[in-house]
Amino acid sequence: MNPQELADKYIITGDYHTHTVYSRTGPHLHGKGRIIENAAAAVSKGLRELAITDHGPSDVYGLSLKDIPKMRRDIAEAAEKYPELRIYLGVEADITDSANGLDVRPEEFELFDFVNAGYHYVPNSHMIANWLSFHIPFPKAWKERLRRQNTDRIVKALKSNRIRILTHPGDKAFIDEHAVAKACEETGTLVEINAKHRHPDIRDLKIYADYDVSFIISSDAHSPDKVGNYVLSLALALSAGISPDRIVNIEELRSI
Ligand SMILES: [Zn+2]
Ligand SMILES: [Zn+2]
Repeated sequence: MNPQELADKYIITGDYHTHTVYSRTGPHLHGKGRIIENAAAAVSKGLRELAITDHGPSDVYGLSLKDIPKMRRDIAEAAEKYPELRIYLGVEADITDSANGLDVRPEEFELFDFVNAGYHYVPNSHMIANWLSFHIPFPKAWKERLRRQNTDRIVKALKSNRIRILTHPGDKAFIDEHAVAKACEETGTLVEINAKHRHPDIRDLKIYADYDVSFIISSDAHSPDKVGNYVLSLALALSAGISPDRIVNIEELRSI
């Protein structure tokens, strides 16, 4: 099926990974749209649900926990304007070496409707090593050690917390997809097919497909025009042999 045929046959019902101006470093805005602008975009694309999931507090572009009351107010304002859209406040936590494996502490979970988690380039030695491993030839043994550490951290984070979506697994950090898939299976964590990042790619998705996991497509929009993007991710999933009914936010339109 070509992209247009896919879009005519399947719709995305919700986008549970989008960023806004609350992902920022001082005056530099990492996410470009305001919450109400992401909401307007979601409505214009026919979505029923939307989540605002800015970066975790330790990220270079992380949200400030102090902003959460303001984010809740922005969401309430958007919900009033667009009553047909249900809007959640989530967060895309960073996977770290903290006690619970995330930069969102267990007692902070209640600030959010749910927590997603993934790897990002933050300036610590572990993530700098990951960045370098993608850009310069690394000795095989170093790469293997890094892959093991990356995998162990994800598995620990998944097992120590209730994480809804594992965001772009394999991007920004090499992992053992089998071990990560097994941990997602055991914890009921959704495997993300990310419209913005290169991983998971078709090879990765074929591995995840062999486990009893469910998938979710996210735009990972950093600007409102990208909210709800799903067609190319769906095409990738189909190419990897993943049936659409395993993707929790995809619905088939049936002709009457
Ligand atoms: Zn991310
Ligand atoms: Zn993101």
